[in-house]
Amino acid sequence: MNNHYRRLNPSPISVVVFCFAFSFAAVATFVSQRASAQMQTGWEHTYASPNHPIVLHAVRLLDIESGKIISSGEVLVRGYKIAEAGQSVAHPADAQTIDLGDTTLMPGLIDAHVHLFLHPGDEGLQTVEESVAQRTIQATLAAHDDLMAGFTAERDMGTEGAGSADTAVRNAINRGEIPGPRLRVSGNAISILGGHEDAIGFNPAQHVLGNADYANTTDELIATIREQHKEGSDFVKIYETGRDIFRDGQFTSQYQYTEAQLAAAVQEAARLGTKVGVHCMGEPGALWAAQAGVESIDHAAQLSDETMRIMREKDIPAIPTFTIFEYFADHAQNPAVAKAEHESLDYHIQQFKKQIAAGIPMAVGSDVGPFPHGTQARELVLMVRYGMKPLAVLQADMLEGAKVLMWEGQIGDLKPGYFADIVAVPGNPLDDIGVTQHVSFVMKGGVIYKR
Ligand SMILES: [Zn+2]
Repeated sequence: MNNHYRRLNPSPISVVVFCFAFSFAAVATFVSQRASAQMQTGWEHTYASPNHPIVLHAVRLLDIESGKIISSGEVLVRGYKIAEAGQSVAHPADAQTIDLGDTTLMPGLIDAHVHLFLHPGDEGLQTVEESVAQRTIQATLAAHDDLMAGFTAERDMGTEGAGSADTAVRNAINRGEIPGPRLRVSGNAISILGGHEDAIGFNPAQHVLGNADYANTTDELIATIREQHKEGSDFVKIYETGRDIFRDGQFTSQYQYTEAQLAAAVQEAARLGTKVGVHCMGEPGALWAAQAGVESIDHAAQLSDETMRIMREKDIPAIPTFTIFEYFADHAQNPAVAKAEHESLDYHIQQFKKQIAAGIPMAVGSDVGPFPHGTQARELVLMVRYGMKPLAVLQADMLEGAKVLMWEGQIGDLKPGYFADIVAVPGNPLDDIGVTQHVSFVMKGGVIYKR
């Protein structure tokens, strides 16, 4: 743990000083505050924004919307929000000024596809062997690592068998009890019986549970969405495709739900004021997901022209998740699997170039979890390597990411009224996207977590 967190840990002494200033009229308050202070001492660690304004100063600031680097750059933070940002800002008399030197200030990074409840190792086995309690502890550590890497907001795309345990992690972060990104959580993903992430290949007599919540019909989809909502989910994650086969350059992906079923899920999510995100590798599932109006199409290895047309029309981003493809290709169990994984990555790269040319929206999601948390800025590097400009990737990450996470107008930019989610990177990210892998300063909601 890092000792730069600002902890609200009221000591009895400060309460005494406070109460003397207000004489005997405050005796009742004194007693109750002292009692509560004593109960909290040594126990409560709350991450809260400070009472004084903060001015962040750096050599550069990224104006993400215009795509320009401003020098120098300053941000005035009051409480948990940005009050001013630009070349120079007001310096209130009571402000603390933090000079971050030769760095670039920019909005906190957004990862639109994470799994806090997964860690490197056999995905299928860890969800069978490890208890939800154990996995929840690991998820809190993962949330810490992601935040320290500069990811101040994330969409958790399924606990993979840990049910609604992600709501506990999100709530603890929101209450300031543990450090972590701002989170949108789905609970388990939803899948058909015998589909993606069902426990296929185990001894049938053991009745091993799948990592998703089962829903086989439209009615079951709606009931499952309602159940997850009751348990605290923010959005819906559906596995739209199952088994993928790459053979001789040909790719096929089995769909799981029809267009009508996905449309019913989108409608039910809308009734609850939220959206549906899909795991979707290819056609025809991708077309049906786009027609149904999902929030994003994740993995998106194969998209038809018609699918891409609808994605442009409805502003549905693809989220390529290259890092997980690369990781699986580089960490395969044997040469045959490695060959298949590399073939799959190569196919995805070729399709991605077509998708860029078609001008579809993109967001940035890494699928971190199966590879180490806190390393996922690799995704931005790969999206540049495979054809996007650094600025386009940063805009996909921050501007499109804010929309995908349903925080548009609140995160992803350094503007007055936005949450003070701010990071600093060495160098200029428009020249070298790799600097996003070396975030040196992290503030979320006005609280400094890394400096
Ligand atoms: Zn995933």
